[in-house]
Amino acid sequence: MYEELKQYITDIPDFPSKGIIFHDITSIIQNGESFKLAIDALYDVIKDIDFDVIAGIESRGFIFGAALAAKLNKGLVLVRKKGKLPRATVSEKYDLEYGQAEIEIHTDAIKKGQKVLVIDDLIATGGTVKAATKLIERLGGEVAATAFLIELKELGGRAALEPYVVRTVMVYEGR
Ligand code: AMP
Repeated sequence: MYEELKQYITDIPDFPSKGIIFHDITSIIQNGESFKLAIDALYDVIKDIDFDVIAGIESRGFIFGAALAAKLNKGLVLVRKKGKLPRATVSEKYDLEYGQAEIEIHTDAIKKGQKVLVIDDLIATGGTVKAATKLIERLGGEVAATAFLIELKELGGRAALEPYVVRTVMVYEGR
């Protein structure tokens, strides 16, 4: 249904390192029509989900999370790379293809029992979003669902996230 959005994604081979095809969404958001289509599409895949607040993952998850939150009168919580948030945080380390990364969230960003919709632009291995779900649960939140514009099927993120609900707009069979 939203396959037409794929024409706005620019695929860049060997970026940021050899063997990776980078799916660049800047070409979606720099055009008003495709940006609106992307937000409508994300809304369409999550409209049956009951949630209180959106958590956007740095940095492209901020763009889609913010637009969706404003459309739905919901708040937006930022899941940021280590060292960027100014107040007390909880943080979570996770593995990347090479090495480790760490993300964090303000301790007061999520209230006990709040239902959280997690948004990012793309799910690959699922490692980043999995770490985000741990932060949300450590603060007493409940992960209502996770949603992405793009799913790279071959990298298995959907299975890695079980039993969480995973919703995606466009699926690439490869990576
Ligand atoms: P992962 O933790 O493996 O699911 O990776 C997801 C995160 O890395 C997201 O924040 C994506 O924006 C970014 N990412 C991973 N692989 C790609 C790719 N091939 N193209 C664009 N972004 C990617």
